[in-house]
Amino acid sequence: MDERGGDAVCFKKLIEISPDLVELEDYHLDELRHQCFNVESYNKVYHHYNFTVGMKMSNSADWTVKLNFAEVKKICRIKHYLCYPLEENEKGQCYACKNRTKEWKI
Ligand SMILES: [Zn+2]
Repeated sequence: MDERGGDAVCFKKLIEISPDLVELEDYHLDELRHQCFNVESYNKVYHHYNFTVGMKMSNSADWTVKLNFAEVKKICRIKHYLCYPLEENEKGQCYACKNRTKEWKI
């Protein structure tokens, strides 16, 4: 599994499906705030990223930075991508992190 770059792929998928991002003119991945990697079994692998993206909308002169959640699941060799925006204080629904509450207080 590709260790890095999953967040970029996820964000691209989000742009494709999100009506809010139709006006997105330019963007760059900013800060990777959290990531976890969880191997449940050889054919069930999860990789989670919380990352910020600098975004420039065509109807605005300013760049904004938004926090996003991304998860890449690899189940039986097929990758599933999930990505959605988060509020600043949110952490997202991560299957692996939920099982590690000591490491990441929720
Ligand atoms: Zn996680």
